[in-house]
Amino acid sequence: MAKSANRKSYDKIFSNLKEHHKWFETSIPLIASENIPSPAVREAIISDFGNRYAEGWPGERVYAGCIYIDNVEIECMKLAKKLYKAKFADVRPISGVIANLAIYSAFTNPGDVMLAPSIPAGGHISHGKKEHSGTAGLVHGLEIEFYSFNAEEMTIDVDKTKAKVKELEKKGRLPKMAMFGGSLFLFPHPVKELADFLKSFDMHINYDAAHVAGLIAGGKFQDPLREGADTMTMSTHKTLFGPQGGLVLGSKEHEERIKKAIFPGLTSSHHIHHMAGKAIAFAEALEFGKDYAIQILKNAKAFAEALSDVGFKVLGESRGFTESHQIAVNVLDYSDGGKVEAELEKANIIVNRQLIPGDIKAGRHYFHPGGIRLGVSEITRIGMKQGEMKEIASFIKEIVIEKKDPKKILPKVKSFRNDYQQVQYCFDNKLGAYEYVKLR
Ligand SMILES: *Cc1c(COP(=O)(O)O)cnc(C)c1O
Repeated sequence: MAKSANRKSYDKIFSNLKEHHKWFETSIPLIASENIPSPAVREAIISDFGNRYAEGWPGERVYAGCIYIDNVEIECMKLAKKLYKAKFADVRPISGVIANLAIYSAFTNPGDVMLAPSIPAGGHISHGKKEHSGTAGLVHGLEIEFYSFNAEEMTIDVDKTKAKVKELEKKGRLPKMAMFGGSLFLFPHPVKELADFLKSFDMHINYDAAHVAGLIAGGKFQDPLREGADTMTMSTHKTLFGPQGGLVLGSKEHEERIKKAIFPGLTSSHHIHHMAGKAIAFAEALEFGKDYAIQILKNAKAFAEALSDVGFKVLGESRGFTESHQIAVNVLDYSDGGKVEAELEKANIIVNRQLIPGDIKAGRHYFHPGGIRLGVSEITRIGMKQGEMKEIASFIKEIVIEKKDPKKILPKVKSFRNDYQQVQYCFDNKLGAYEYVKLR
């Protein structure tokens, strides 16, 4: 019998899923916001937890059937608090954006002003203005003022920010909240240097650790909750190697407001299979997170130095290029970020174009910005070390600087990639990192 159109669609979906796995098995994934979870996390997220509701708090659920879910969620909160030395953890936000929205809802009202990094200065669209469809402006009605940014040092300028806050106070636009953290994030933000000053104006300080959560967990970045941040939000799947999800941390005084903002405010189902996956990842991070963070920093430094050695303009040079998992490269000498991204993809090197300081003023925009951003989280997770960083830098040089045909580099990339098929820094790694699991 001929296949029905529905059956053809069904088959097509699976063939694309399988092709994707095969592609990533032979690629060099350098998207700084991505990572690969352990097989254990993948097991948790295909469990029946994903088909259940558990609205509310363990022991106070809206529905029955939550005995084992409660056990896992209690464990999950315990592990999150231990990992980040926090008094309070809400593990229910389904993403980093929802975690940020929970903080906006809990501690500000629409119309309030928030201080945040601009996007070319590394900020994330969830901190953005209404006219850019940023979450803070569009969804919660916040007005956004940007920190002053030092593009040489690639971080927030402390003195100029202080002057700006005083200026804003005079104009009657004093921020109610200060947001630290970002998506282009090479060096720690000056939380310690600004916290007392900002708090003297009664600002709530949140630190968005979406990108650097795994480095903070490993004790290798900054420690925002000890440096003066009131609360910390994050994604659970960037340098922290969990399933896609979010997390909010704070102290007891913030507990009630945050809990209400997350449920019933921002979630009904909190994607319980992913909550279980987070719990597994927190346990793995407690056990292996320090070694992982140490290797990430070594790899990022080695990669940045290798890129600089072959001729690239790597940002943050005066400070040693990077202290995180990220590297930002200005590619305007050769092309633009959009074209470089497309060329590298043809050789299975997966990167993202990146707005860098100066782009907006020069009229460059998101599709053809001046830079690319590279992250080493995933290649570190599958066991690569400093030597491999040099090889990858040389592939990128051949394509971007020497303008060689990416199709000629592709076979080299594939064979280089062969040896790294297992997730490291986890308890169990029997299943291949990119192995496709068929259950039908
Ligand atoms: C990625 C990112 C987010 C968004 O997280 P999702 O989990 O994708 O919703 C929020 N803030 C920053 C700084 C990010 O980089």
